[in-house]
Amino acid sequence: MIDILDLEYDALESFVVGEMGIPRFRTAQIWQWLWQKGVDDFDLMTNLAKNLREELKSRAVIRHPQVDVVQTSRDGTVKLLLRLDDGALVETVLIPMDGYYTQCLSTQVGCAMGCTFCNTGLMGFERNMTMSEILGQVLAGRGYLLRNGFPPLKNLVFMGMGEPLLNLDNLIRSLKTLNNPDGLNFSRRRITVSSVGFLSQLEILGREDLTLPAISLHAPTQELRAKIMPKAAGTHIDDLLAAMDRYPLRPRERVTYEYLLLGGVNDSLEHAAQLVRLLGHRKCKVNLIAYNPGDRPLYDAPSEATVLAFEKYLWKKKVTATIRRSMGQDIKAACGQLKADQQKD
Ligand code: SF4
Repeated sequence: MIDILDLEYDALESFVVGEMGIPRFRTAQIWQWLWQKGVDDFDLMTNLAKNLREELKSRAVIRHPQVDVVQTSRDGTVKLLLRLDDGALVETVLIPMDGYYTQCLSTQVGCAMGCTFCNTGLMGFERNMTMSEILGQVLAGRGYLLRNGFPPLKNLVFMGMGEPLLNLDNLIRSLKTLNNPDGLNFSRRRITVSSVGFLSQLEILGREDLTLPAISLHAPTQELRAKIMPKAAGTHIDDLLAAMDRYPLRPRERVTYEYLLLGGVNDSLEHAAQLVRLLGHRKCKVNLIAYNPGDRPLYDAPSEATVLAFEKYLWKKKVTATIRRSMGQDIKAACGQLKADQQKD
């Protein structure tokens, strides 16, 4: 059986025309049912004749993830624990912004990178997610918001479980499918791919011109990065920054560096000064995120005063910095916490 949500538009067309022998224009109709309307049953494709729907049912399946657990935070953040076809569990988070939602997506079941501040990293790597599974999260998230009368989904961030660039083929296929205006219709500027950074994959991503990645830097020196992100630091920080200096930007775009502030580890003004030395002359901005310990703390949270002082220092030195609000504090919104809890029970 073909997993029909795992076909890019061209592949769907080959399947429809080449294998099923039906007219080409049906491709667009099926595509719209799958991605715009998000149906999970061929029988709901009411503009297709019954025999065609039966034929589709005999050859293909529409696999939506099953929503296992929903947690809603007081601040409106919604976390969904999704069960994939083989029983694997992944998390996706819907984050309210001003009048719309941003969804945080996973790309792998587990993660091989072992960043020391991350619950997913502690679980280890299980497998890559397919395009169908990656985008299934969007269908589940969008559907949840719609059914519950929440504001619409506007932006996507690949910042959930897994390292997106280690699942590059499925990531690129997903980005292409997201871009399709007759489907989910998320343009490049509404999608952010967050990565610890791999040189050859960044080069490929730059050539594809589908997204501008945000780099998870989290430390101002190679030494400290190697301590808190031992595997990611296999790419030397200087090489990583040089690769991002070469990344093809559009007018007014800047590279984003994510910096997770860990209490007493990387949050002092000395660290801020080191960060300025690293980034001060680069076309970039810094997103500061205060570590959210949840109920499985791996580090201490930084104090609010420390976070503000860090930001102020960067601004004083003319490095653009924003503090990202830590959403969903009361529902384990930090990556991997909900799945870890579920597996413990
Ligand atoms: Fe993997 Fe990202 Fe967690 Fe690092 S922070 S272990 S890359 S999921």
